[in-house]
Amino acid sequence: MKRVDLHLHSRFSDGTLAPAELVARGREAGLDLMALTDHDGVAGFPEARRAAEGAAGPRVLCGIEISSSVGEVHILGYGLDHARPAFAERVSELHSRRRERVRRMVEKLQGLKFPITMEEVVACSGGVLGRPHIADALCRKGIASNRGEAFGRWLAEGRPAFVPSMGPAPEEAIAMIRDAGGFAVLAHPDTVEDLGVVGGWVKGGLEGLEAHYPTYAPAVVKRFAELAAGHGLLLTGGSDCHGPGTLRNAPLGVSVPDAVVERFLERVSRCG
Ligand code: AMP
Ligand code: ZN
Ligand code: FE
Ligand code: FE
Repeated sequence: MKRVDLHLHSRFSDGTLAPAELVARGREAGLDLMALTDHDGVAGFPEARRAAEGAAGPRVLCGIEISSSVGEVHILGYGLDHARPAFAERVSELHSRRRERVRRMVEKLQGLKFPITMEEVVACSGGVLGRPHIADALCRKGIASNRGEAFGRWLAEGRPAFVPSMGPAPEEAIAMIRDAGGFAVLAHPDTVEDLGVVGGWVKGGLEGLEAHYPTYAPAVVKRFAELAAGHGLLLTGGSDCHGPGTLRNAPLGVSVPDAVVERFLERVSRCG
């Protein structure tokens, strides 16, 4: 088995650690391989790469996690040529849509008579805006005591300030990653209500499944590994750590079989 972490968030999206701090934690945890996968952006990667340079380990890859329009269905991307102008353009479009969604949610909160502004939310963000930054702004004002409370009372689906994701369809997210020379992996597959749709996404270019995740019991990992095998998909694993002060503050690293890492790295090596 190898210790890897192919799913990590930094301050460049809604994590609370800097990319360099994540790399330092990965090193302390003795990881062989890690990837920064901020929501809808790759701007934190240069810092992570610098932090990994000249050090004994771990190897650090650039990734992304694209939030789709469907519930909490997220698509991870690896091996991207993130310098391609068309990719940068689409990332910027995702940011505009996120900003619009956050703006609508702030308006709903204002309608509920909370004294909160878009500027205050933006001030809580280190790059890609999201609901966690609205939560942080509510905390700064003393309206909520942590992100979990803010989501539970106002920001989660079904709560009064919720606005559905304005992200791309899963198929579009997969295409966006492939168009940038990378490969797409379905994140935390338990968030997909009907796994019957996976076959269609495979036809659309999906190449992997994140079967190893901190909350998945061995039987769950086995079920996802079987589903992946049935579709010829590779496997990945990651902690989805967002850092201290968040609900997802798992220690870095998951254990995955050597063969899984080999297949993943072989696929990375075939990217431009
Ligand atoms: P967004 O990308 O704007 O839809 O926000 C989703 C992010 O919010 C997730 O990636 C988590 O980091 C965080 N999140 C989701 N649900 C909760 C929750 N119940 N409590 C705290 N954070 C949450
Ligand atoms: Zn997040
Ligand atoms: Fe996710
Ligand atoms: Fe994530």
